[in-house]
Amino acid sequence: MPQLTERLAAIQAEVHRRNAGEPEFHQAVDEVLHSLNRVVAKHPEYADMALIERICEPERQIIFRVPWLDDKGNVHINRGFRVQFNSALGPYKGGIRFHPSVNVGIIKFLGFEQTFKNALTGMPIGGGKGGSDFDPKGKSDLEIMRFCQSFMTELHRHIGEYTDVPAGDIGVGGREIGYMFGAYKRLTNKYEAGVLTGKGLSYGGSRARTEATGYGTAAFARHMMETRKDGLEGRKCIVSGSGNVAIYAIEKLQEYGAKVIACSDSSGYVVDKDGIDLDLLKEIKEVRRERLSAYQEERGKGVQYIKDGSVWDVECEVALPCATQNELHGKDAKKLVKNGVKVVAEGANMPCTPEAIEVFQESKVLFAPGKAANAGGVATSALEMQQNASRDSWTFEKTAGRLDEIMKTIHDDCAATAEDYGAPGDYVLGANIAGFVRVADAMRALGVV
Ligand code: NDP
Repeated sequence: MPQLTERLAAIQAEVHRRNAGEPEFHQAVDEVLHSLNRVVAKHPEYADMALIERICEPERQIIFRVPWLDDKGNVHINRGFRVQFNSALGPYKGGIRFHPSVNVGIIKFLGFEQTFKNALTGMPIGGGKGGSDFDPKGKSDLEIMRFCQSFMTELHRHIGEYTDVPAGDIGVGGREIGYMFGAYKRLTNKYEAGVLTGKGLSYGGSRARTEATGYGTAAFARHMMETRKDGLEGRKCIVSGSGNVAIYAIEKLQEYGAKVIACSDSSGYVVDKDGIDLDLLKEIKEVRRERLSAYQEERGKGVQYIKDGSVWDVECEVALPCATQNELHGKDAKKLVKNGVKVVAEGANMPCTPEAIEVFQESKVLFAPGKAANAGGVATSALEMQQNASRDSWTFEKTAGRLDEIMKTIHDDCAATAEDYGAPGDYVLGANIAGFVRVADAMRALGVV
């Protein structure tokens, strides 16, 4: 990475000092600051009014106790978080994550990334993120409901359709959003449909929201290939994870005529040379909520299940990391390059380490950062808010059509910005600068607040 200017290096040192012990947050900020080198050189006014310092500091951070009862009557305590990062462009917007690895640094990095991502969508939404170190794995439906209700007992004070609009993320899908919406409705005595997105269709959800993040990531990969007059048809692909983002990325890749031969969960990965059987995968993961090893047991001959292995060992031309942060390292990137990968688009948030990104960029692999490639999810959440505000419900075709247009615009904006700043093909730089400029322009107009 190029050296930071003295001013940006001082900002970086202060962010690291003030947020000690939060490596993921440092990583996300460092990447953006490196992109801003070029902005400050070309437009020094973006360093005025402490704009960059303010953009790196969350507007508000809320941490709370979440007590809940398991089925045997034992009391458990988890910690809840909501980081309201930046509201220059609109109400805070970003998902809620339930995973044992959650801490304030993880939520802060996600909220920071979300601010730029939401700006890239062109919709009027600020950035925020929340979650808990609660582990939903192995919990009964009633335990999940009681946890969601307890979580919302505190969170409801801080959110609202004009304040902060949470959605799902790792460990939080339609079931959890339903329980949280029910609790919010009871606590506030208001049917405020626009307070949460990712809702079920029976109570204000949007068609195509479930599919949006994965569909959008696959579309972004296709647009990148098109810049080289290439496509995805017949391409060998691997997708990490087997949750919401991964499943619908696989679905869209298959629709494009690509062959997805591997996917994973946190216990291992499967290789299915004939192409992943998506109906079976959905049944195991979405309906039965089982481990991926069940896929091999049921699909049988010709399918390999590798426990604890790395899915990046599988040879492919297209790789979509769709599980979690820092899941693809420098050594994995080198292996993928050696095996002939042509395009990598992040469906997850920050799944590739800085070393991995450097390997891809040096090898001229097309690489898209999550804040651009996975922005289809939050963009469709904003479409859900539009439908709620107008008491309307659009068809799948209309919503998915808008998603397609938005993904194309984000792709083209990132590509054009990278070119303007002298780095054609650098989607990381393009996404960081295009997102920053939108947020910074609004912050300047709003004064020092
Ligand atoms: P899900 O909970 O539906 O799925 C997560 C998947 O990733 C599961 O297969 C899970 O395996 C795997 N996984 C999670 N943590 C780890 C880990 N530490 N190591 C290995 N595998 C892991 O989440 P989503 O699909 O919603 O989210 C995936 C990523 O996409 C996240 O980074 C999220 O922030 C990002 N994202 C999600 C959006 C959305 O709309 N849902 C929008 C934009 C980004 P297992 O079941 O074994 O834990």
